Amino acid sequence: MNDNTLRKVALRYQAVYLPVEKAEIPTDYESTIPLMAFVARLKENGYCVSEELLHAMSKVPVQTLFAITKMIKEVMGVDLNWAPLVKGWDVPTGETRMDHLLTFLANLFGGEEAGLKGTTLPCGHFIPEGTFPLERYNGCPYCGTPFRTANFVYHGQGSKLKELRLFTMDDMVSVFRSLLASPTPLDATQLDSLKLLLEEFEVPEDVEITMKETIMAVLLSGKLKTENGKLEWGKRLLKTPMDILRFFWYEKTGLVKIIEPKYLVEMERKANTNKYGLPDNKGELAAEEKRKELKLKYNRLHCRMAATWLNAVPMTAQQAAENMNPKRGMWVRMIHALRLGEYSRRNGFEHLAEILDVFYKQEYETWAGRLDQARRSNNKAETLRMLCERPGLFARCLFATMLRFGKDDTLKAFESVLDALPARLILSLGNNAELYFDPSSPRLARPITGGSVTIDPNPLLSLYSEEQLTDMVKAVKELYAKTMRKRFAQQKTDSKTIYIDRRLYDIPVSVGDRTTTIQDTACALQGTRFPVEGDAVRLFMQWGKGLPAQHLDMDLSCRIALQGDMVEECAYYSLTAPGAKHSGDIQRIPDQVGTAEYIELSLPELEKAGARYVTFTCNAYSDGNLSPNLMVGWMNSAYPMAISEETGVAYDPSTVQHLVRISEGNLSKGLVFGVLDVAAREIYWLEMPFMGQTLRDCNGEVVALLLKKLREKMSVGQLLDLKREAQKLNLVDTPEEADEAYTYDWALNPADVASLLFV
Ligand SMILES: [Zn+2]
Repeated sequence: MNDNTLRKVALRYQAVYLPVEKAEIPTDYESTIPLMAFVARLKENGYCVSEELLHAMSKVPVQTLFAITKMIKEVMGVDLNWAPLVKGWDVPTGETRMDHLLTFLANLFGGEEAGLKGTTLPCGHFIPEGTFPLERYNGCPYCGTPFRTANFVYHGQGSKLKELRLFTMDDMVSVFRSLLASPTPLDATQLDSLKLLLEEFEVPEDVEITMKETIMAVLLSGKLKTENGKLEWGKRLLKTPMDILRFFWYEKTGLVKIIEPKYLVEMERKANTNKYGLPDNKGELAAEEKRKELKLKYNRLHCRMAATWLNAVPMTAQQAAENMNPKRGMWVRMIHALRLGEYSRRNGFEHLAEILDVFYKQEYETWAGRLDQARRSNNKAETLRMLCERPGLFARCLFATMLRFGKDDTLKAFESVLDALPARLILSLGNNAELYFDPSSPRLARPITGGSVTIDPNPLLSLYSEEQLTDMVKAVKELYAKTMRKRFAQQKTDSKTIYIDRRLYDIPVSVGDRTTTIQDTACALQGTRFPVEGDAVRLFMQWGKGLPAQHLDMDLSCRIALQGDMVEECAYYSLTAPGAKHSGDIQRIPDQVGTAEYIELSLPELEKAGARYVTFTCNAYSDGNLSPNLMVGWMNSAYPMAISEETGVAYDPSTVQHLVRISEGNLSKGLVFGVLDVAAREIYWLEMPFMGQTLRDCNGEVVALLLKKLREKMSVGQLLDLKREAQKLNLVDTPEEADEAYTYDWALNPADVASLLFV
């Protein structure tokens, strides 16, 4: 068992894993010098420990304490370089476009050799006298190459310590089981935790695994190294040909959604095409590279797995072939690459032979084709009857069907299949209804290729009056409350009392909004609001850890929405804006230790300028996607936060309010990672990828829409209220006196929240 892995996962739940038994924890503790030193180190990094954890700590060896400190420092990036381009960047350098232009011209004419006065820097650039104030920079102000790094960060300026609690082996196992059993898709952090834990624990036989991502992670985990293990678990978990195709697709690309290879190639070309439209062949080369990478090449084991699994699907050959139809082109190539034809002639693979036979002769009428037929011929009864055969699909096209065939008949048919649907699906219907039925609001969609796009409203909306549309929304929302009340009422419970933490009313229930960042320090759900304590919010970004010196241009920026449709930006091309200051544009990274950019936001100044929202953004300005080693977040403290005049370092782990790491496999080129509501003094944590290269592409309408969507989501607190009503529980004031206590800590494990509420 690798304790370091367990500690890493535990920290995401604001806990420290210790290999101790709860019963053996002493009721009081002896303070030793190493323990005191340890607590002091934690405090510097913004953490304190619970009473129970402190007692347990007094029993563990010094080496364990040392390992924990090391892990926390690593997660917080304490040993990295946090020096930005400008020293003491809270005082602007006053650099102008003219400085850039003069430097450009001076270099063009030969700089020092041409007899001009100025300084030649290690990067080779000549900075003419009277332009940039060079004494203020840690690197070249012209090309953004850093020459100096710093090896310190600030400590202990934070006003709020985050309390760490104790996790024992039992807690770790229960986290593992809840991740496996989660009825909603895991977010990137949870999936990463699951993958880490899969290397440590055997998959228990008695947990039902239903989510696609989870199944893929299990089948690819290190614990299933033996051929038979893979074959057996695959037979158990992959129930349709589509599941099997997804497995091979995921193994190749790391993506759960099956995207036709030609789109992936096209995206790669787009991501690598020069932003200024200059002719180069980088995009073409990248596309070719991707094409090669996606070529199908399989070994014997792969062929055997595919043949065995397909042979074992619990479907008739007709059903299986129909299931394969939407991805027919890919299947034709897969059948060839996996030599399934060969296997189908062997003994014991009769079902496979039958499936391939039906598939090739196309002796199946697709269900989708018949549905389309019924819909087009306006056959209401037949359409609804068919949709009832596939409840999941019915849910997905419920709104459009309501508009097409009327609210009452559609909902009546839909209610008859409600029991077959997972609660999260019905919940997401309720969350989306308001936007869908609003003729004036474009819908926000996240296409599989990354980024957000807006879709125009359904044209049929114009046939209905405002009143009728409001009725439709109401009816859909009632559907959810009704279902949940019914399901909660059917649940057996001996509880009489319930405690619900007030903060849970601010946390939206996750229905599987896919995220691409990993939260190492503490999980938070999208839409969670963080209060701003002092007068300043400091954004930070650190990237390039573990990479050799090279050109790697990442940009931290923000967009300040003023009154009306006025917008100001603080970014590399505009270092100061009302209420915001940028620490300078770094375009190259130093060796191994990475580099940093900051933006300081002043709330009083933002208020004075009439700012409403500030959107936090990070972008990749180099060709290609966001760097996998990128850390981004914000700091906040009731106390002033220092900025070094000497180096410009402005990082203090104890003031970090939220921090995320960009996970690999992120397809998008940029990320909105937070929105500050200036008047409310609150920061929304959210994650919205977008494809554009500067934040001008991230339009305000899209952000406002996302916030609206977040606010309209059912909160965990509201859901617990439904449970309380249905099970007739009495609300009590403290967790101690409640039979069922729903605290903030409980909600930190979204998999737990999901499994309790999605009955
Ligand atoms: Zn330079």
